[in-house]
Amino acid sequence: MNQIETLVRKAEGEVNEASTLKALQEMQVRYLGRHGEFTALLRAIGGLPAEEKPAFGKALNEAKARLENIIEARRAALRKEDETRRHAAEPQDLTMPGRRMRAGLPHVLSQAADRIKAALIGLGFELIETPELELVKYNFTALNYPPDHPAMDDQDTFYVDDDHVMRTHTTPFQGRVFEERRPPFRIFTIGRCFRNEAVDRTHHHTFHQVDAFMVDEGVSMAHLRGTLGAFARAMFGPSVTVRFRPDYFPFVEPGVDFAISCPFCEGEGCVVCKRSGWIELGGAGMVHPDILENYDIDTDRYTGFAFGLGVERIPIMRYRIDDLRLFMENDLRFLEQFQA
Ligand SMILES: [Zn+2]
Repeated sequence: MNQIETLVRKAEGEVNEASTLKALQEMQVRYLGRHGEFTALLRAIGGLPAEEKPAFGKALNEAKARLENIIEARRAALRKEDETRRHAAEPQDLTMPGRRMRAGLPHVLSQAADRIKAALIGLGFELIETPELELVKYNFTALNYPPDHPAMDDQDTFYVDDDHVMRTHTTPFQGRVFEERRPPFRIFTIGRCFRNEAVDRTHHHTFHQVDAFMVDEGVSMAHLRGTLGAFARAMFGPSVTVRFRPDYFPFVEPGVDFAISCPFCEGEGCVVCKRSGWIELGGAGMVHPDILENYDIDTDRYTGFAFGLGVERIPIMRYRIDDLRLFMENDLRFLEQFQA
């Protein structure tokens, strides 16, 4: 019993003199560890008379618990000292401004794409994705491009080999849909397109388009007009109207370009609409009957419309961005201006 008491006293003295957490830890191992001095005393219990064993064991356990408490108290005190020292070494100026958290945000083109998607999905269109590396067949041939059409020239198109191009528009998704599905359908796609252009303020080799088409019984230009009107109002506000003017695209007949009444001046004329009151947005028309027939769709029963526009047009118009290159440069000073 005396031995126990002596050991606790000795340990307590050392613990209170331990000046670092490391020294304290070593001490704990030396007294309480598997080969420590308390464990050695515990082994001595075997040599005691049977009647003394319980009291000795109890005293030993109590002593151990006491020592553990002393060590924990010392450890807490040392931690506190450590912290105080650290704070003194690195004084904090509580009047200093905080560090600004830079939150990420979607790219301005993604924001435009998201709005377009929401508008078209709201009109019942289904979104699909088709490849950026596209077969010449889908990019041109299936869309009624005559073999000598200037768009097919490699001056304008990135040919990967004789059969593959980087798609020059999103319209080739039509052929893929026609091969896989039978009408009725309302489908759109949105994504990256490529043209062999010298890059400057108003031209870029990479840009984005959205293409939508609908094929069903009795679909007419009136449906096209109604759909584009609803789309334009979802994008630009309730007062916007749509204007059609005849235009030519190989894959529609008849074809139109469509413009919206300027949402910024409500048709009065401003810098965005170049004083005309109208902003041209894209191309549209009725799906060419030859294309429907190529895919064995009964043109007596089914007709369809299609439209497409450039995604960049939306932020260009909304924020008056005057340099296409900004969209591709990933300069944060530009991108951070467009909080979603
Ligand atoms: Zn205007």
